[in-house]
Amino acid sequence: MDNPEIARTLEEVADILEIQSSNPFRIRAYRNAVRTVETVTVPLRRWVEEGRALTDLPGIGKEMANHIKEMVETGTLGFRDELLAEVPRSLIELMRLPGLGPKKARKVFDELKIGSVDELEAAAREGRIAALPGFGAKSQEKILAGIADYRQQGSRFLLNEAERSVEPLLAYLRETPEIERLEVAGSYRRRKETIGDIDLLAIASQPIPVMERFRGYAQVDKILMAGDTRSTVVLGSGLQVDLRVVPAECYGAALVYFTGSKEHNVKLRRRAVERGLRISEYGVFQVHEEGSETEGECIGGGEEAEVYAAVGLAWIPPELREDHGEIELAAAGRIPDLIRVEDLRGDLHMHSTWSDGRNSIEEMVEACAARGYEYMVISDHSKSLAMTGGLDAYRLREQWKEIDEVRARHPEIRVLRSMEVDILGDGSLDLEDEMLAGLDLVLISLHSRLDLPLVQQTDRVLKALEHRQVNIFCHPTARLINRRKPAELDLEVILRRAAELGVALELNCSPNRLDLKDTHLMLAKELGCKIVIDTDSHRTRELGLMRYGVDQARRAGLGPEDVLNTRGFEDFWIAIQRSRM
Ligand SMILES: [Zn+2]
Ligand SMILES: [Zn+2]
Repeated sequence: MDNPEIARTLEEVADILEIQSSNPFRIRAYRNAVRTVETVTVPLRRWVEEGRALTDLPGIGKEMANHIKEMVETGTLGFRDELLAEVPRSLIELMRLPGLGPKKARKVFDELKIGSVDELEAAAREGRIAALPGFGAKSQEKILAGIADYRQQGSRFLLNEAERSVEPLLAYLRETPEIERLEVAGSYRRRKETIGDIDLLAIASQPIPVMERFRGYAQVDKILMAGDTRSTVVLGSGLQVDLRVVPAECYGAALVYFTGSKEHNVKLRRRAVERGLRISEYGVFQVHEEGSETEGECIGGGEEAEVYAAVGLAWIPPELREDHGEIELAAAGRIPDLIRVEDLRGDLHMHSTWSDGRNSIEEMVEACAARGYEYMVISDHSKSLAMTGGLDAYRLREQWKEIDEVRARHPEIRVLRSMEVDILGDGSLDLEDEMLAGLDLVLISLHSRLDLPLVQQTDRVLKALEHRQVNIFCHPTARLINRRKPAELDLEVILRRAAELGVALELNCSPNRLDLKDTHLMLAKELGCKIVIDTDSHRTRELGLMRYGVDQARRAGLGPEDVLNTRGFEDFWIAIQRSRM
């Protein structure tokens, strides 16, 4: 088990104990342990393997230490399983809903005899939840929102998780001799951060053997539909995949149709109607008469560009197809040249073995040089994340000595010294000013107290941005996709201030962060913010995560000129400095 899983398991124990009205001190002990496990970024597995005493960690007593050891060694926790057996399953499901929690779950379960999420939703819609003592209209609303979140989350894969299933399948299908063309459509092609299911489109000389080969793929767990030109399967990973073989003459139209988004396609069809045309998944058709049922002549659809051209538009890159203004841009011939991975000249956020990274500084440097970067930034954690091995002033100075030695051995790349400095609860920084002054760049991040209310959290960040040494605000909302909601921040206020101060905003490439996300980046660009794209690598192979950030930046319509670390070093260095004010 990794740390997030350990934390989730302990949290579940705390919730069940709470449902059972156990001793409040015992419940609190579990919750404290959860907080500790969440802030430790060094893997607890490593602590156990190295035989280090877990009880050295704050909030971890003997019982917790034993639990953690058991989870690391066996991948499960017997005590949790015992507890689960004592509580009805439906109650557990209710308890896991965001906005409900153990106490309220118990209450609706007992008083309204509600035993499922569906029943809870029905009760909320009828206003019966609001009528319960201690609930009210507000918490009823919150519960409905929680149900919506819960349903959405459960069924969506992170983009990189989906890729792990899709790429081997594509490689397998491409070996089929009858397949002439094959592409993934849908949200996967639009590079959305999470994916529901996968739509594949193919052109094939003969569809039937293609369908047979698809359904015969070793990873297929269930076949939901088996047709001559279309089949739907569920893979072992749980991902649902649909494959359609379409005629070559309507491949482009089908690709537009199945790539979506729905909103984008609605607008396209509207433009078609205005021009006396009809666009469908089968092509672009001339409409003969008003209200005529007979299909007019097909005037294109083999390639996507024909479909767009028919309605007076330039081809639109899939990442932009969200009806976020891309159709208007295409109509004006102003679709931007989007950023590509090759445009990046440096990576500005990464960890080494000095804190919770897996590779030495030299290994990170060699890997960055191998990627062809001109510059890079070593940014280990600061001391308040003590359990990550966050550096204090003394160890930071020691690290600088090592950086100097590595620099001397690697003149091919410029190595900048930095630190990912924690923003403390009151908005001050977790490193002394004179040490900050010794860094080439200062990165700041929120890692703790992510549950502060909006005004307080916003003020905390604003105060940190004011600090004269700060250059980059990393993973600004601190969200973890499918796992943790973003911190409550007035992002517009923060972006405006960052733009004034000349502090850059990070687009963190980690597939479970992608923070800032597409719509935030659009706002950041509009407000004139500096934007950088970083991997936050904790090992050399994570340097390759850059492409997920680039996908997200493309979704926001960013070009290379919108991102500082596409520039050569001299230009970058000038651009990353704060405004003089
Ligand atoms: Zn961080
Ligand atoms: Zn980091």
